[in-house]
Amino acid sequence: MRDTGIPSSRRPASDVASSIMDDRASSVSRASNISRAMSYASTAATTVSISGEISSQLHGGYHHPLARQWQAERQLTKDMLIYPIFVSDIDDEEVLIPSLPNQCRRGINRLIPFLEPLVHKGLKSVMLFGVPMKPGSKDALGTSADDPEGPVIKSIRLLRQRFPQLFICTDVCLCEYTTHGHCGILREDGTLNNQLSVDRISDVAMAYAAAGAHCVAPSDMNDGRIRAIKLKLIDQGISHKTLLMSYSAKFSGCLYGPFRDAAGSAPAFGDRRCYQLPPSGRGIARRAIVRDINEGADIIMVKPAGQFLDVISDAKDLGRDLPIAAYQVSGEFAMIHAGAKAGVFDLKSMAFESSESILRAGATIIVSYFTPEFLDWL
Ligand SMILES: [Zn+2]
Repeated sequence: MRDTGIPSSRRPASDVASSIMDDRASSVSRASNISRAMSYASTAATTVSISGEISSQLHGGYHHPLARQWQAERQLTKDMLIYPIFVSDIDDEEVLIPSLPNQCRRGINRLIPFLEPLVHKGLKSVMLFGVPMKPGSKDALGTSADDPEGPVIKSIRLLRQRFPQLFICTDVCLCEYTTHGHCGILREDGTLNNQLSVDRISDVAMAYAAAGAHCVAPSDMNDGRIRAIKLKLIDQGISHKTLLMSYSAKFSGCLYGPFRDAAGSAPAFGDRRCYQLPPSGRGIARRAIVRDINEGADIIMVKPAGQFLDVISDAKDLGRDLPIAAYQVSGEFAMIHAGAKAGVFDLKSMAFESSESILRAGATIIVSYFTPEFLDWL
C-alpha cells in the first residue's frame, strides 16, 4: 500500500482501491489485512522511510517484469552460447551418454542432421570434442588427435562447408587420444613432460586452425601453451583469423564424470590434480588468468562455472578488456537434471538461474549443454 502520511481512514476510497490494484501479486493477502493496515498507516517506521531513509525504498525498481530484467547488467542471448558436442570416429554411431542427460556421442554422418534444426533455431557456435572409439586409435603421444581423417578435422571441414555462419571452436587436448588418458606426454615417472606436451598440443591446435576452426581452445593446463600456440599461429600466418580461447582457470574435481563417460578420457592411473587447479585455490587461478592474458589469449575461460563464480568475477576484473567464458560442465548439467527429476526445482527455471548467475559474475560466453533448450526458450 502507498504511504501517503494521511491516516488511511481519511484517504479517499478510490486511492485505497488503486493502491491495492498496484500490488497485484499480494493483493489477496493485502486485502484481508487492509483494515488492520489502515490502523497504523502513519507509524514511526512509515514516517522515517518517507522523511529520511529514501534509499531504503527498492521495490519500485523491480516490481514490473521488465524492470526486473533491467536490473541485470547483461541478458542471456543465443549469441552467448557455445554448444559442446562429441564426435566419434564411428561414422554412423549415435549413442546416448547415460550420465549426461539427452546428450549423444555421434559419428560424422549424424552431425549434419542433428545440427541442422539447431542452426535454423539460431545456434551460433559449437565446441568440438573428438572421441576415438576404434581399437588401436590411442597411443602415448595422442597421435590421432590431429589425424586428418580423424573426427575433429573431418568435422571442421564438413561444418565449415555446410554451415558457413557457424563459429567452430575446437577443444585442444590429448587426454581423449592417449592410452594413459593424461593431458600431455608423460615422463618415465608418470608426470607430465611440459615441454614435449606443449610442443605436441600446439601442433594439434595448428592442425585444427589450418583445417578451418575459428577458435582453438586448449584445455590441457600445461604451462606456457598459450604462448606456444600464439607464436605458431603467427608463424603460420593464421593468427589474424584464429581465436585463442584459454581454459585458464580449469579446476580439478568430481564434476567431470559424465564428460569422461562421453569422451572416454578417464586417466588410466592417477588423476589430474597436478596440472588442473585445486578447487580451493583462488590465488593460483588469478595467476593462471594473468599469465594467459599475457601470453596472448583472446578469451579467458573458467571451468567449472557454478562453484567458481568468484573466479569468473576475478577473471572479469583481471581481464576487463577480454571476453570471459565459463563452462557449465557435465556434472553441473547432470546435477540440475537430477534435481529437477527429484522434484527439487523446475528444470527450465534452474537452467536460467544458473546461467544468469554465471553472467552476473562476469562471463558473457557460456559453454552449455542446455544450448538446444535455450534456442527454444530464448
Ligand atoms: Zn585433457
